[in-house]
Amino acid sequence: MGETFRTDSRQMLGRLRAIMAEEGGGQTRLDRITRLIAEEMHAEVCSIYLFRDETTLELCATEGLRAESVHLTRLRLGEGLVGRVARSGKVINTDDAPAAPGFRYMPETGEEAYSSFVGVPIQRLGEKLGVLVAQSKKPRLFSEDEVYALEVVAMVLAEMTELGAFTGESAAMKARHIRPVMFKGTSAQEGTAQGHVWLHEPRVVVTNPIAEDPARELERLHEAVEVLRVGVERMLSSAKDGDKDQLDVLETYRMFANSKGWMRRMEANIDSGLSAEAAVEKEQSAARARMTQVADAYLRERLHDLDDLSNRLLRILTGQGRETGAEMPADPILVARNIGPAELLDYGRGLRGIVLEEGAVGSHASIVARALAIPLVINAERITTEALNGDFILVDGDQGIVHLRADDSVTSAFRDKMAMQAQAQERYASIRDKPAETLCGTRIRLKMNAGLMADLPSLENSGAEGVGLFRTELQFLTRSHMPKRAELSALYARVMDAAKGRRVVFRTLDIGSDKVLSYMKPTDEPNPAMGWRAVRVALEKPGVMRMQLQALIRGAKGRPLSVMFPFVAQHQEFRAARAEMDKALERERILGHPVPSEIEVGAMLETPSLAFAPDAFFEEVDFLSIGGNDLKQFFFAADRENERVRRRYDTLDVSYLNFLEGIVYRCATLGTRLSFCGEDAGRPIEATCLAALGFRTLSMRPASIGPVKSLLRRTDLGELRTILHEERARGTHSLRAAAMDYLRSKL
Ligand code: PEP
Ligand code: MG
Repeated sequence: MGETFRTDSRQMLGRLRAIMAEEGGGQTRLDRITRLIAEEMHAEVCSIYLFRDETTLELCATEGLRAESVHLTRLRLGEGLVGRVARSGKVINTDDAPAAPGFRYMPETGEEAYSSFVGVPIQRLGEKLGVLVAQSKKPRLFSEDEVYALEVVAMVLAEMTELGAFTGESAAMKARHIRPVMFKGTSAQEGTAQGHVWLHEPRVVVTNPIAEDPARELERLHEAVEVLRVGVERMLSSAKDGDKDQLDVLETYRMFANSKGWMRRMEANIDSGLSAEAAVEKEQSAARARMTQVADAYLRERLHDLDDLSNRLLRILTGQGRETGAEMPADPILVARNIGPAELLDYGRGLRGIVLEEGAVGSHASIVARALAIPLVINAERITTEALNGDFILVDGDQGIVHLRADDSVTSAFRDKMAMQAQAQERYASIRDKPAETLCGTRIRLKMNAGLMADLPSLENSGAEGVGLFRTELQFLTRSHMPKRAELSALYARVMDAAKGRRVVFRTLDIGSDKVLSYMKPTDEPNPAMGWRAVRVALEKPGVMRMQLQALIRGAKGRPLSVMFPFVAQHQEFRAARAEMDKALERERILGHPVPSEIEVGAMLETPSLAFAPDAFFEEVDFLSIGGNDLKQFFFAADRENERVRRRYDTLDVSYLNFLEGIVYRCATLGTRLSFCGEDAGRPIEATCLAALGFRTLSMRPASIGPVKSLLRRTDLGELRTILHEERARGTHSLRAAAMDYLRSKL
């Protein structure tokens, strides 16, 4: 103890480079590297563990542990100290390894003799490749310098592992990018698609991680950062003249591009022996590791900006990247780690499908993908590592499954499914102009949900009778600044023009919860879904709502106008919001502007409390629309964004249907118009059951109108109602099985 060792990472990297240049296969290299590191670290043991598959690490080379254990000793992710380093992506440095939490004794290695342990992850931009370990008998903590040197070596090993330097002739890498791979992600937008991969950010490959001439590398870094800064300034000045949307993001870019701390850390990496690109990447990896630990959405976004900037810098340094000369395939399926809503809108409807490594069902990108009706799978872990531009890819947005380079049997099964869906689409097209009239003669009004101007053509194609829910927040979410009143009123006017007299129900701004505006001060709430959102924000900070109401009135240009307020939890909130509408109308009248010939003001019923509001509320609202997505999450207390619980409770659960039936009954007796506009309205079985409960207006994604109408037209609501009542009387918890039996008999 007390003895300190100096480890010169630059010297170590120099020797490493020499080893890489020597003759010999992958194993010989690994063996030499472990010997070298052990020597340089003054440690008896150095071992390299690499991932064999996603969850298993294998001891691939060692100096000091028993040679027989190489390729035999295996650890699961999280198992032992090595497994813990791999899982957490963090360094473990201890002078008493056997006493450290998680220590696992592996007799075959003979490691019980070693007290000190330091393990650093071998990873490339957050992608886990293995663990590098040094151990010594003497109990001592490895110094900060030593740990840093080991991290630098691990970084170089990561690059080399990636290039197949240890598996000979980069065969591993080639094999890796040839074999078929299936990804099980999460469905964020239904639908199926086949096409070819288009990487949003193609991977930059660093082939020269070790610097031969650090002074030259520093120069290269400075030159590249200068090019980067000039580029950002250029983008800023063009954004100033025209596209103000990107201004905020670009200002952040400028701040990072000029950040001394960022530069200093990259310079230090070069100083330790890395090349300029490896230095950028090491800093980028550290930033990504920080990103996974930041809970605050706003900060995370900023770290994403820094990540983007590092990618730009890497592209400048390596000359690789988006401008690789690759042409976008005719049937592009976008593959990305994550993507912003504005970028997604830039790609537009040209995309066949989207697969993201990250993302959330309620993220802005998901909202846009849904609005564009592009099949989207999120949480497809490691897809950006596996996929190459141009790879054949199948996206099953219904199941949340992606097949990359699928073999013939999978492809043909997938194509069968797509063909069946296409046939069904033809069937739906043939009933497009027919009413959604059930066998018992009940007319159900089917409307569509929308949120973008681009959705409006669907009104004609789908046969929707109007827009039952226009989510106005998309215009706010996809910009980097608050939209202006004039911009909004022009948009609302165009939406109404496109609707050609059919009613469009505009929902006022529903922000908060997962919908965060980048230009509004973020609020740090313990539970944002139940926090300061929607009408609560509007009533406490009425400026934006007033501006929006005015824009809606002006956009109507004297035509009838329908507006509804989201997330109303009690009568008073509705009254206060309606009073704002009355004031806005009055102001417009005073200003001499035309006011809508007719105006209806409704509320979304998204909290159970509103179902029990006083009768006066039901009499006062012009209409109610059930936001089933939110209502269901609050009814069952099951977060709609949480994969673990969001599918746990069935919409056809008797308790939920009883609750909905109560609302239908109150609306019927108090004369309140009622509709349902959550996702369930677009699911044929659920929609038919809702109709059986008494709902006469359903609003859904345009693509759902055909399937829902088709089933409704074959259903006798009286028969279905009787079956549901009988099942309920029998004490059945979910009416799904009975409903499905009945509906199947009608197909
Ligand atoms: C709902 O909650 O059902 C709804 C339609 O609103 P959103 O999905 O936009 O929250
Ligand atoms: Mg809602």
